[in-house]
Amino acid sequence: MRIVMLGAPGSGKGTQAKRLEAAFGFPQISTGDLLRQAVADETDLGIRAKAAMDAGDLVSDDIVLGMIKDRIAKDDARNGFILDGYPRNRQQAEDLGDVFEDAGIELDVAVLMDVATDVLMKRLTGRRTCSQTGKLLNIYFSPQEDLDECVNNGGELLQRKDDNEKTIGNRLQVYERETAPLIAYYRDSDLLKTVSAEGPVDAVYASLVATLGLG
Ligand code: AMP
Repeated sequence: MRIVMLGAPGSGKGTQAKRLEAAFGFPQISTGDLLRQAVADETDLGIRAKAAMDAGDLVSDDIVLGMIKDRIAKDDARNGFILDGYPRNRQQAEDLGDVFEDAGIELDVAVLMDVATDVLMKRLTGRRTCSQTGKLLNIYFSPQEDLDECVNNGGELLQRKDDNEKTIGNRLQVYERETAPLIAYYRDSDLLKTVSAEGPVDAVYASLVATLGLG
């Protein structure tokens, strides 16, 4: 299955895409993760992308298109993948359509993870990653025992550099302006499905699986 996950920053795209990957084997392809890795490795691309990422702006369409093309061409993506954080504007959606056409493949579904804006703010400011396990946690929503487990095992609860209030505000505005119009774009092509993504992670996952017809 080839899936585009749509949704605001903090809507749970990454968390849910990782679970789908674990359960069904389609790799999660996150342009945000690929870019953060490039920044950490200080590659040319990472150096070019860093300022936009720190400000919560979009990195140039050409940079992310190149990354997506390379990643989709890998062996593990042959039978399907989950795009998490791509496309993020109209140009990227059209670029993706061209990539699919050239490869002779089709998108099965664009699934919107629907969350109210006030919930997003708490999800983003509270978001942490365990330095040891890579597990995504939230200081407001995760069970205390999960947070303690990370720290007691010598891990640290790391906060993403762009998860501060100023950058978050900009990222949400960029989402509304650039990315939200893709909801109509995919609805017009009859590819859109919507999942209410406000409840606990397990409940959202169950409804995502059912919506995708994978249950
Ligand atoms: P994310 O982890 O998806 O929230 O992405 C983190 C940051 O990486 C974003 O705020 C952007 O600066 C950049 N980014 C991720 N995906 C894209 C994309 N498809 N187009 C442009 N910039 C992106």
